Amino acid sequence: MKFGTKAIHAGQEPDPSTGAIMTPIYQTSTYVQASPGKHKGYEYSRTQNPTRHALQGNLAALENGKHGLVFASGLAATDAVLKLLKPGDEVIATNDLYGGTYRLFTKIYQDFGLTFRFIPMEDATGVASYFTERTRLVWVETPTNPLLNIIDIRAVCEAARRHGIRVCVDNTFASPYLQNPLDLGADIAMHSVTKYLGGHSDTVMGALVLNDDEMAGKLAFIQNASGAVAGPQDCFLVLRGTKTLHLRMERHCQNARMVAEFLAAHPKVGKVYYPGFESHPNHAVAKAQMRDFGGMVSFTLKGDDLPEAIRVMESLKVFSLAESLGGVESLCTHPATMTHASIPKAEREKAGLKDTLIRLSVGVEDAEDLIEDLRQAIEQVVGVEIASS
Ligand SMILES: *Cc1c(COP(=O)(O)O)cnc(C)c1O
Repeated sequence: MKFGTKAIHAGQEPDPSTGAIMTPIYQTSTYVQASPGKHKGYEYSRTQNPTRHALQGNLAALENGKHGLVFASGLAATDAVLKLLKPGDEVIATNDLYGGTYRLFTKIYQDFGLTFRFIPMEDATGVASYFTERTRLVWVETPTNPLLNIIDIRAVCEAARRHGIRVCVDNTFASPYLQNPLDLGADIAMHSVTKYLGGHSDTVMGALVLNDDEMAGKLAFIQNASGAVAGPQDCFLVLRGTKTLHLRMERHCQNARMVAEFLAAHPKVGKVYYPGFESHPNHAVAKAQMRDFGGMVSFTLKGDDLPEAIRVMESLKVFSLAESLGGVESLCTHPATMTHASIPKAEREKAGLKDTLIRLSVGVEDAEDLIEDLRQAIEQVVGVEIASS
C-alpha cells in the first residue's frame, strides 16, 4: 500500500458496534470483564486503549515498522528509550539536537549513571571512532535542529551494527513522509508527534516505531510501567492529523523551498540553512535518504547583529513568534533564547549555532504571503538595498 492510502486507512477499521467510520474516542479508564481475567483485550487504559491502539498501528505503518508506541510527549518517548539502558552505559548523540533532548540526557539521566557524548555526525565515517566498549546507543537527529545538518543514517547504522550498538533516529523534522529510518537500518524511529504528525499545533505527543519484537516488548512494558501514555482524545486528533500528512508535507516542502530561495537571494540575508540547496554540505545524502527537503529553513542576517535579528522576528506578521514547528501555520523561533536555551552557549557555539540564528517552520499558507511577510520584516529593520547604477 502506498503512503497516502496508509495515512488514511492503516490501523483503522469501522467501529464494530456502530459502523462509525472514524475511530471513536474511547474516553474510558477501564473495561468490564465477563469473569475475572476474561476480557476483550482491554483491561485498563494505561495498558491498552482502542483509540491509542488505532494510532499506534497507523504510525507503525507510516514508518514501515511492525510496532508503534505512543507517549504523552516526544520527550516521554525518548525517556522510554533511555530506560532500556543501565548505569555505566554510554550514548553517543548528535551535537546539534533538540534542546529538550539535551536537557533530558544531561540533567536527568547523567545522574542515573549514563554517559553522553555529543559529537558532530555530518561525516558519518568518523562516528565509529567515538565508540567504546560501553557504547550502547547512538542517538541521531536528522535533519538537525536548528542548523538543518544532514546525517547519513545508513552509514551510521552500518557502523553501529558492526559494534552491536543500537541506533535511534529522531525523525521529527522529516516526518515519515520524507524519511523512514527503519528502512535505512535504524532500530527505532522516534517522533515528537506534536509537530508534523499531529500537524495542527493542538496536541503534545511522542511515538516510537520499531521492528524488533523483543525490544518492542520491553518498550511496551516501560510504557505501561512508567505510565507516560497518550490520552484517547489526543490520539483521535493525531489520527485526524495523519490523514493529511502527505498533502501537508508536499506543501510544506514546496513553500520552504520558495522561502529559502527568496532568503538566499536577499542582499540583507547572511547564511541560509536549507538541505535542498546544492551548496548544502550534505545535499547528496539528503537527496538519497529523503523524498524532499522538508519545511524548515534557518537563516541569519548579514552582519550578525542580535538586536536586528530580534527586531526582524518581532516585525513578522504572518509568521508567529513561537516555539514548536510542523503545524499548518508558519512559525518563527529564536533558538538561542527559546528551543535551545537549555544548551549552554559554549556548547551551542561549538555546534555552530549562533545567537543571531532565526528558525522558520514554513507552514502551508500561500508562499507569496510568507515571502512578502519576510521581505517587509527584513526591510523594515535593515532597510532596502538601493541598487547603484
Ligand atoms: C519538539 C521536539 C522534541 C520533543 O518533543 P515534545 O513532543 O515537545 O516532547 C524532540 N525532538 C525534536 C526534533 C523536536 O522538535
